[in-house]
Amino acid sequence: MPIYEYVCDDCGARYERIVMNGNTIVTCPQCASRRNTIQLSVFVAHGNGVKTSDQASAPTDSGGGCCGGSCGCGH
Ligand SMILES: [Zn+2]
Repeated sequence: MPIYEYVCDDCGARYERIVMNGNTIVTCPQCASRRNTIQLSVFVAHGNGVKTSDQASAPTDSGGGCCGGSCGCGH
């Protein structure tokens, strides 16, 4: 599901919106302007998200992941 980051052309606010399709009208949460500029698109897909988190948690992931015994997630 794509999340787009916008910058409002009127007030400069930065905000993100999940866009279901290209016809979605995005309005600024501060001034309700429809004029905005897309900064970037972050695809929250399994590929990029997992890869990023793997790299971030790699040093502490050697014990078997989340349920290694240190996080108290029910194991
Ligand atoms: Zn605005």
